[in-house]
Amino acid sequence: MDPDSDEEDDWTKYADTGYTSTYDPWADMVPASEIEEEEFDDEFDEFEDEDFRRTDIPRCPAPAGIDHTIRMGTCNHCLGRVAGVRIAGDPLDLVGERVRNQAIERDPDLKVDDEIDCCPFCEDLFLDLDVIVKRITEAVDDVEFSKAQLGIHFAKDHVAAEEVLRSTIAATGSRPLKATLSDTIQAAVSEKIPGIVWVKERPEVMLLFDTLTLGVNADVRALFLYGRYRKLARGIPQTRWPCRACRGRDGGCESCEGTGQQYPHSIQSLVCEPMVEFTSAVSDAFHGMGREDIDVRCLGDGRPFVAEMKSPRSRTIDFEKLTKTINQAAKDQIEIHSLRASNRAEVSRIKETKAEKSYTIRFNCEHELSDDEITTRIESLSGQILEQQTPQRVAHRRADKVRNRKVISVENILIEEHEIQFDVRCESGTYVKELVHSDEGRTNPSVAGLLEADCEVIWLDVKDIHAD
Ligand SMILES: [Zn+2]
Ligand SMILES: [Zn+2]
Repeated sequence: MDPDSDEEDDWTKYADTGYTSTYDPWADMVPASEIEEEEFDDEFDEFEDEDFRRTDIPRCPAPAGIDHTIRMGTCNHCLGRVAGVRIAGDPLDLVGERVRNQAIERDPDLKVDDEIDCCPFCEDLFLDLDVIVKRITEAVDDVEFSKAQLGIHFAKDHVAAEEVLRSTIAATGSRPLKATLSDTIQAAVSEKIPGIVWVKERPEVMLLFDTLTLGVNADVRALFLYGRYRKLARGIPQTRWPCRACRGRDGGCESCEGTGQQYPHSIQSLVCEPMVEFTSAVSDAFHGMGREDIDVRCLGDGRPFVAEMKSPRSRTIDFEKLTKTINQAAKDQIEIHSLRASNRAEVSRIKETKAEKSYTIRFNCEHELSDDEITTRIESLSGQILEQQTPQRVAHRRADKVRNRKVISVENILIEEHEIQFDVRCESGTYVKELVHSDEGRTNPSVAGLLEADCEVIWLDVKDIHAD
């Protein structure tokens, strides 16, 4: 027996669906050979009235239903999808073509009705497959990625109309248009972009296809890099800071020497600019685990950060080489280490972590006390809860309130006549300069209060941030 020429054999194949999932949408499918032709004989005459929504026409896979579906101008893709005929492994359009040929063999006069101009199910979207695939591949032409997610935007009435049509004529269990179109596009794109992986979450590229315009929008998801920075010099803000005079507009002004920036560098610019170059990103964002003042250094193991590269063209990074590049360019200003891949969730973690911090602070004090007395009084801060009213220097941008912060420990007190220095470890969010000078009594207790003398901060360093 020659299976290629034997219609009977072909038609029985659809019973073998090859489905392995527990739910088989084709389970209620009936092989056409088992359907009594007589059941439909009477109905053949009635197709002339061309009422597509008629309920007296049997649904696919009944031959009369298939014939009706063909007369409506259904494309091969949709015919393969709604006919209730499935030959495992074959693409839908080939299944549809076979169904159509078999129907024409049964009835050589079968043809698409004259006034039909497109497939009533998909509005000819499947015929545009080549254009869609071309637009997708062009949209990601220069982008390095593997994980992609495809979204399809339909006009709402199209989806609803297709549902109604499918519910009247399609075989029970026929897959919806959206899911089928999505699978078809994904399979076609996979042939053009080997190695592409289609995902439902955390894609590197989100592709949105609009069925009305056939437009494709590729959203290249941001790349996140974790690291720690040490700030070796004072006078560097953490993030870019637009010039106060010109606000960074129109290529800067005289006071910022055309840079548009209040300071020539920031941690963000020193860290992110080489990263942007390495990844060919469009722009960047910088998320630090808190921040130190411009005039405060950050030493020890440094401050954790996550740098965000927006719309990167490249995702494969030589972390060692990137670290070296950043550190060489920012020599004596900052230094980074522990660079690794990160993600958006870590940005929240970094921002929410309330890490204890150790500081070294040096200040001037016109005291009249012995060294022992000073040491005793400063050490008494260990374990104390500070009441800190919002400092005057930040009152313009923060609510005025009193908050309590704990001093964990005080050590390494150094007294050189009127210059005093010590290390202090305290809770996250402690105003350390105010702990020393008291901010005109707004912080209690304070070093100035304990020494009964004015204290003027000379410098402050973050000695360590006690966090991973
Ligand atoms: Zn179609
Ligand atoms: Zn300016």
